[in-house]
Amino acid sequence: MNSSLRHPQIQPANKGIAAITPYQPGKPIDELKRELGIDNIIKLASNENPLGTSKHAIEAMQTALSDISRYPDGFGFELKQALSQTFGVGLAQLTLGNGSNDILELVARTFIAENQSAVYSQHAFAVYALAVQAVGGVGIEVPAKDYGHDLPAMAAAIRPDTRVVFIANPNNPTGTWFDEAVFAQFMAQVPSDVLVVLDEAYVEYFPENFNSLPFLKQYPNLLICRTFSKAYGLAALRVGFAMADEGVTNLLNRVRQPFNVNSLALAAATAAVGDTAFLENSRALNLAGMHQLEAGLRQLWLDWIPSRANFLCVRVKQDGMGIYQKLLQKGVIVRPVNNYGLPEFIRVSIGLPEENQRFLQTLAEVLGLTPAVADASGAQAADRVTG
Ligand SMILES: *Cc1c(COP(=O)(O)O)cnc(C)c1O
Repeated sequence: MNSSLRHPQIQPANKGIAAITPYQPGKPIDELKRELGIDNIIKLASNENPLGTSKHAIEAMQTALSDISRYPDGFGFELKQALSQTFGVGLAQLTLGNGSNDILELVARTFIAENQSAVYSQHAFAVYALAVQAVGGVGIEVPAKDYGHDLPAMAAAIRPDTRVVFIANPNNPTGTWFDEAVFAQFMAQVPSDVLVVLDEAYVEYFPENFNSLPFLKQYPNLLICRTFSKAYGLAALRVGFAMADEGVTNLLNRVRQPFNVNSLALAAATAAVGDTAFLENSRALNLAGMHQLEAGLRQLWLDWIPSRANFLCVRVKQDGMGIYQKLLQKGVIVRPVNNYGLPEFIRVSIGLPEENQRFLQTLAEVLGLTPAVADASGAQAADRVTG
């Protein structure tokens, strides 16, 4: 046997690739079932919708199944039309993605050349750094403030070679958020040739925070990125979208794969946009679940980072990875966040009431804590991490 075949000469990869630490997804339920040999497992690790999926979306997919021998609509006309009507943007302002991760990568490939820079925050969603590194770009990580984005510092960190600023509102994994006044001040400071990517993956949960859409009219250098993976309950299908200026959109669509969103995903997402009742139920369940978790954590004298998303970052005051492992052994999957620079935290997604209860109880067990009796005055509440 020719040894050069067994040991092929590997070409050096593109700049930045070898240094990439791959994204760590949440552990799948089936994998843990195989490992532990138990059935009773809950997954609160990937910020998925515990209510599942809109039944209209499921029906739309079933109908679309009869046509999967055909390529999907590469323009995504029906979904874009539904989005256009719902959010008041033109069809030419919409880019569809195979998940919003696809959009983030498209942005990097379209706008960031080798050795140009992008700004993002400490503790920000990991995909920003990955997308920048993959194109040989330089990431500028700005220290967080109270675990959240420090927008004035991020604006100040922009250099002449900076092409893109990535911001998540609220941020994952911290759940931190900012309001309209802070964002308005930030946009006013950003040079008009720097693209601002506002990632609103969780915006449906607290829409009252602020409406970012009016900023699109004022700022051609703003791109709003959203997803069907979270509140819409379609994580497995991989659909996300961007709303931006027509010029920016036109460029992204040149780089985009022609059939990057499949036909089942298009059909389901189109139906999901219109199912406002499902979104309302998801929002209400999430809010109640957040109150339930916060009350339970208070009884354990634990603190957390205040969140406006569908998860909480809980300070376990010891090695979060170890606590994650212990919860895993008891069939509760959460997310360790040591790779986000938060070694003494774990992130838990808000689930169904019984799942939240099981998490709280199991966490108390692995930490060796006994819940204190709640004091109606709130006097026993542990101090939160911020505020
Ligand atoms: C979950 C998440 C996304 C969504 O990713 P998809 O590729 O659409 O599933 C994007 N941004 C943030 C901050 C997220 O937490």
